Amino acid sequence: MTPGAGARTRPAAPGAPSPETPSGPSGAAPGGQAARLTDLAVPEDGWRRAVELIQAAPEVALVCHVSPDGDALGSMLGLGMALRRAGKRVTASFGDRRFAVPRLLRYLPGQELLVPPGDYPAEPELMISFDAPTVDRLGLLAPNAAKARELIVADHHPSNTGFGTLPLVDASAASTSMIVEELMARLGLPVDRDVATCLYTGLVTDTGSFRHSCTTPAAHRMAARLVEAGLRTDEIARELWDRSPFGYLKVLGLALGRCEVDQDAAGGLGLVWTFVPRADRAAYLLPYDEVEGVIDVVRRTDGTDVAVVLKEDDEGAWQVSTRSKGAVDVGRACTALGGGGHVRAAGFTSHTSPEETMARFRAALAADHPSP
Ligand code: MN
Repeated sequence: MTPGAGARTRPAAPGAPSPETPSGPSGAAPGGQAARLTDLAVPEDGWRRAVELIQAAPEVALVCHVSPDGDALGSMLGLGMALRRAGKRVTASFGDRRFAVPRLLRYLPGQELLVPPGDYPAEPELMISFDAPTVDRLGLLAPNAAKARELIVADHHPSNTGFGTLPLVDASAASTSMIVEELMARLGLPVDRDVATCLYTGLVTDTGSFRHSCTTPAAHRMAARLVEAGLRTDEIARELWDRSPFGYLKVLGLALGRCEVDQDAAGGLGLVWTFVPRADRAAYLLPYDEVEGVIDVVRRTDGTDVAVVLKEDDEGAWQVSTRSKGAVDVGRACTALGGGGHVRAAGFTSHTSPEETMARFRAALAADHPSP
C-alpha cells in the first residue's frame, strides 16, 4: 500500500494546508463543505472555530482525564503526534499524582510528548481536553484548564458538563477518538500508522472490540480507514486483552471468590458485585491499573443487569466501576454519586467501605427502579 492511501477518502478541510493529503475531488462536497467521516452532531461552526484556533496556534497543550484509558490517551497522543508533525509545539499530560502510563497502554506511540503535570504550562493559550466529562476529571491539571485562554473539549460522555470555551462533544460517538479523527480530517492532517494505532486503540477499547452497543456503522468505517493506514489489529489486541502478569490471575481469583448477587437490586433487575482491596494487589505486586479487566468477567453473570467492581487504589480510595446490560442507566446513578459516564458503563469514587458504598449505589439505582 502506498503511504497516505488511507487518506484518499478524506478530503482536507477547506483552506487547510495539507501537502501530504491528496485533495479528494470525489469525496469533497460542493461549496467547500468540510469532510464528514461520521454522523457526529457537533455543530458546523464548532468544527470551524476549532480548526481556526488550532491552525492559528504555534503551541498546543493537550490533556486527558486522570487514570487514562485507551480512548483518553490514544485520542490525545494521536492528535498530538499529528500536530507536532504539522510544526506545532505540543505538550501532553494528565493530572495524576502518580504520573505513569498504564502498562497496557505502553505500546502506544507518541509518549515522548508526555510531560509530568508539574511541567505543564500554567496558563496555556490553547488547551485541548480529551475524553473528560468534567473539569474535575483533569485532576491536578484542572487549574491549568481554568486558566487556559481557549479550552477545546473533545468528548463523548452524555454526562459532559459543557466545560471549556469550545465543546466538541457528541454522545453518539463510540469514542473520543472518533471526534479526533473528524477534527484531523478537517485540519487536513494525515493519519499515518502511528496516529492510526492511537486512534484505533481509543475505538477498540471503548467499543469493547466492537461488541458494545455503541458500535455504529461509523465506528466500523473508521476502523477500516485506520487499518488501511497499516496498523496491526492482532498486535494491539494482544497488548490490550491477551496478556497479563501472573499476579493478575491470583487477584482475579480472589475477586471472583468474593462475588455476590443481589437479585432485588434495581427493582428486581439484579446486580452482581465484588471488590479488590489493595492488600490483594500488594500480595502479588500488582499495580492498580492491572485490575481494570475484572469487571469484564464479573459482568457476564446471567440474570443480573448491573455489575459493580470496587477497586481500592493506592491512596485508599475506592474506584467504583459499573456496567449495565441496558435496562439500567448506571451513568445516572454514578452521576448522582459524584461520578459520571455512559448508560452502560460508568463510575464514581468512594471514600467509605465497600458495603456502605454499595448501600448508596443501590439507593441511587432504586431512585430510577423502585422495588415492585
Ligand atoms: Mn471514551
